[in-house]
Amino acid sequence: MNSTKLKIGDQVIVKRGKKTDKGKTGKVSSILLHKNRIIVEQIHILKEYVRANPQKNIQGGIVDREGAIPISSVMFYCKDCEQGVRINISIKDKKKTRICNKCKVALD
Ligand SMILES: [Zn+2]
Repeated sequence: MNSTKLKIGDQVIVKRGKKTDKGKTGKVSSILLHKNRIIVEQIHILKEYVRANPQKNIQGGIVDREGAIPISSVMFYCKDCEQGVRINISIKDKKKTRICNKCKVALD
């Protein structure tokens, strides 16, 4: 089964992929678990051609769209460590909390 400890809204850093995206950080805007992919704001921008549709008031042309990238190519970005980190789960009083593997700070 596919799974990730990342959540929508998390800050992540790109570790693998296009040169222009590597090392960039962004917010997770969507997680496509069934595809093992993730969409991060301002990362992996694709040019998409949109056909004009006057009835729907859509102007044709090239638009930028964020493409999905493999979940494995990003890491959670810990603000305290200032780098990509692994996430650990700690269970306390039956409550799951995500913590930074490095500085042990709670991430939620
Ligand atoms: Zn940390």
